[in-house]
Amino acid sequence: MNEKNKAEAERRAKLLKMRAERLPDIKKAFEENQKRNFNANFAPGGKDEHLVRKKTTVTKATATKKVVKTAAKTTKTIKKASPRNVKATKATPGATEKKRDVSLLVSTRKGEMVHHQRMLSQDVNAQATQHIIGIPVNKSRYNGYNGQQITMAQIKQARQHKDAVRVIPIGGLGEFGIGKNMTAIEYQGEIILIDMGTLFASEDYPGVNYMVPDSKWLDDNRDKVKAILFTHAHLDHIGACRHLLPYFGPLVPIYGTAFTIGMIKKQMSELPDVPDMNYHEIDPLKHENIKLSEHLSAEFIHTLHSIPGNTSIVIRTPNGNILLSGDWRFENNPMDTPADYDRLLEIRDKEGYALLLNESTNIDTPGTHPHSEYDVGENMGRVMDHYANGRVIISCFSSQVKRIELVLKEAAARGRKVAFAGYSMINNVEVALRARSIKVPKDTIMKMEDIIKLPDEKVTIVCTGSQGEMNAVLNRMVSGSHRYIKIKATDTIVFSSNPIPGNEPKVVGTVGGLLREGAQVIQNGKTHLTNIGPLHLSGHAYFEDHVKFVTDMQPKNYMPYHGEFYMLQHNAEMAENVVGIPKDRIIVADDGDVVELMPDQTIHKNGRIHVGNKLYDDADQQVNEAVVKDRIHISREGIFVVILTLSKKTGRLIKTPDIVSRAFIYLDNSEELIGKIRHYLRAKTDHTVSTEADVKALKEEIKEDVTHILFDATGHTPIVIPVINKV
Ligand SMILES: [Zn+2]
Ligand SMILES: [Zn+2]
Repeated sequence: MNEKNKAEAERRAKLLKMRAERLPDIKKAFEENQKRNFNANFAPGGKDEHLVRKKTTVTKATATKKVVKTAAKTTKTIKKASPRNVKATKATPGATEKKRDVSLLVSTRKGEMVHHQRMLSQDVNAQATQHIIGIPVNKSRYNGYNGQQITMAQIKQARQHKDAVRVIPIGGLGEFGIGKNMTAIEYQGEIILIDMGTLFASEDYPGVNYMVPDSKWLDDNRDKVKAILFTHAHLDHIGACRHLLPYFGPLVPIYGTAFTIGMIKKQMSELPDVPDMNYHEIDPLKHENIKLSEHLSAEFIHTLHSIPGNTSIVIRTPNGNILLSGDWRFENNPMDTPADYDRLLEIRDKEGYALLLNESTNIDTPGTHPHSEYDVGENMGRVMDHYANGRVIISCFSSQVKRIELVLKEAAARGRKVAFAGYSMINNVEVALRARSIKVPKDTIMKMEDIIKLPDEKVTIVCTGSQGEMNAVLNRMVSGSHRYIKIKATDTIVFSSNPIPGNEPKVVGTVGGLLREGAQVIQNGKTHLTNIGPLHLSGHAYFEDHVKFVTDMQPKNYMPYHGEFYMLQHNAEMAENVVGIPKDRIIVADDGDVVELMPDQTIHKNGRIHVGNKLYDDADQQVNEAVVKDRIHISREGIFVVILTLSKKTGRLIKTPDIVSRAFIYLDNSEELIGKIRHYLRAKTDHTVSTEADVKALKEEIKEDVTHILFDATGHTPIVIPVINKV
């Protein structure tokens, strides 16, 4: 046995031992759970029992009062209404004359159409405003107001305490998806920003690719920003840099690890005018306390996640230390330098943590990570062994550069070459090489145009598209629109990822397409089908990891961040019920909430700042919310344009009205309906239209009437656009 094989055998033995050791852990976790006091807060004997009793009595009293008041109001309204009604009827004849009432020949009442339009507009609004707008509903028991919803009046009354350190989540909390992470920390007019991420829009937002935090508050406070810090280089933390960083210019220092800064620079280099920025690369293992402003300083701590150069950040403030966890996972057998957990514990012992902001992504996943990144690498090798005669195509997130390093190693060991496909994949590998985050075996990487000349059994391709993105490489390989690769029956495709919640149908579509081409597909989480797995390791801590982390850090106060609302809430429940942090020291905040850390190290919520989203399409152009609403409306009901040419002199129609219908009805089959509308338009224009006001009024009436005729015939209310030309 040579040295190499021996080392390999040892590594395997170590892995097997690790797995065997986990079994008792699982048993222990189960027993632990039996002892835990999960809450029934409002039940008799529960922590919030007193609230229930209070609430019932209060509600009863107010309820009766309310009824009385409403009754009184109703009588008043009726009395008042009658004289007005009379007036209205009197005025009607004049109006009708001016309105040129024309019979619409419809069988539905106008009220039915109006009702349909109202329901539609409610649906459209609900769909286009799933991101946080105005004051979000938050009646969580950890909401900072004892479960009571905050009102506009309360927000207006809020006055900031001079000595408070203000923690303000600008994005990433309670959104519909994980993303757009950005936190501000403010003390006496000095502001530190941490992360600037994007949030990918769902299918519900037609034509919108991603969202970035609304910058109004930043615009108003730009001069106060003393430093910008980045925890790591995932797009949900740095994606908005190209939109937000150029505001600040070369005076504001930007801090991050070498890989993170490399990725930001790469992104900024794609701007038409590359701004001159003040970048500082940090080596977290040096434990440097970076002075950011007169009162605030920061220390980066090396932690592990699914990307190189990942960190937590400790912000030292006059009211105590704030620990921002960033994204993290525990790893027993990491590829990277082990996490600097000792430093976190050292700071805890010497200085303590007044407030911990902890990420919430995988709080709903029980237990701890059952395997390591090395298992994933080993299984990639097994795929190459089992399917040795064909091409192996591995699809994963482009930021998983450590996993890519493993693929390279496994391929090199089997005499395979590797090519990368997908713009972001190639970019990230380049940045990783430059930041020395990965090592690459000699003569293994090839260009796509060269690798296809090799026999299939030598070819390994690492590509994007594991989320079933329509325009990503993998789908193009299926459809045949990829320049170099068309999937064939001898190919094996590995999905080294899990679908992000919401992407499942797209992934299913891609897998279906691959299978139809006769290819072998191996997905993570479906080990029973091929006996090969796991093929992915999540980058985020699981429930028991959080329990350990929060218990170890002993924070005075706790605030879940980086998560949808349910994740934040579950994270808070974990902190109270399992770790034992008192309820009044835990806050579930939304984007825009101002959380104040006081000199006595208590926390409370105090008002809100303006937050929101800017929507962008895939050409990086901003999309107005009104445009999104129109798109949704059109996609459901269509669009209907009538073009009238009137004589300037007589105001009558000169020629037959033109009618254009898109995404509504197919005109060829609708002669009767079109005839009806033409008839109506002729009758409607049998009057002089002289002033601009006349034209405007006529347009409004035509819009309403045509909508009614269309609704009557089809049950739909497309966007009706009347166009009037006068010649
Ligand atoms: Zn991340
Ligand atoms: Zn993240």
